[in-house]
Amino acid sequence: MNELTATFAGKQEKAMNADLHCHSNASDGQLSPAEVVVRAHANGVSLLSLTDHDTLGGIEEARRAAASIGLDFLAGVEISVTWKNQGIHIVGIGVDDNHHGLREGLDIVASGRIERGRQMAASLAEAGISGAFEGALAYAKDPRTLSRSHFARYLVDIGVCKDQSSVFESYLNPGKPGYVPHREFLLEQAIEQINAAGGVAILAHPGRYRIKATELRQLVQEFRELGGKALEVVSGSQTPDYTGQMARLARDFDLKASRGSDFHAIGSSYADLGRLPPLPDGVVPVWSLFDF
Ligand code: AMP
Ligand code: MN
Ligand code: MN
Ligand code: MN
Repeated sequence: MNELTATFAGKQEKAMNADLHCHSNASDGQLSPAEVVVRAHANGVSLLSLTDHDTLGGIEEARRAAASIGLDFLAGVEISVTWKNQGIHIVGIGVDDNHHGLREGLDIVASGRIERGRQMAASLAEAGISGAFEGALAYAKDPRTLSRSHFARYLVDIGVCKDQSSVFESYLNPGKPGYVPHREFLLEQAIEQINAAGGVAILAHPGRYRIKATELRQLVQEFRELGGKALEVVSGSQTPDYTGQMARLARDFDLKASRGSDFHAIGSSYADLGRLPPLPDGVVPVWSLFDF
């Protein structure tokens, strides 16, 4: 193996510290895109993708920061879609962030977030919590990124709940008073736009959906038939047993495996950047699809 091949092989290896799912304050994270990049680098990440919810707004800043410290970077996004009335997340990495169709699709989802926020606030008001729209909006840099996380922060700060997970349990999960689904954007639309933009579609945190195992297999099958390429086999805070199940699912459906912390903020319940187990044996890393 000559020196060049050795470098290439090293970059493609499974044990590489790749973090392909995280958030900045361009959506519901708390660090700026540049701060995310610097922290990822400090934590030993060698390939990063910033994947804010339904927006590419943080990519330019993150890309510049990554270039200046020599960190390999892929433009990414996490798209909120509806599948059988369920909210599902599709991560797209390696996308052309100027692609027209992708940007238009994201615009549809993002612009729905403002009206959805008003509806959430109205139903929270019926449950006795007033002022939640303005309260949550104060945490969002752009109203088009307004998210349940911003409502959760507001409800914790005004003392309604002790922490964000209690807010979700009492107010923001499906079936609770403040829950409103996203404007409908379909699984096929998200995958199509990610592929059209030259990216790779990954089914995010497959273990976090409230669906039965048979339904999850059906989702994975459809995802693949529609042009999806990988499963997030290692996501922040999951048990080793679960990782094994996700690895089997990836193998059964001949999908690549991804790894992402889903980092949102320092000290939050999600994993820190790059601080998660390596991919298990027997799967093919999604980064093998890229030259970098
Ligand atoms: P949205 O896109 O507005 O529906 O908000 C979804 C976001 O809420 C997720 O990306 C998480 O950041 C956050 N979230 C969902 N469930 C929880 C939970 N149980 N605890 C903390 N944050 C959560
Ligand atoms: Mn989030
Ligand atoms: Mn998600
Ligand atoms: Mn996420």
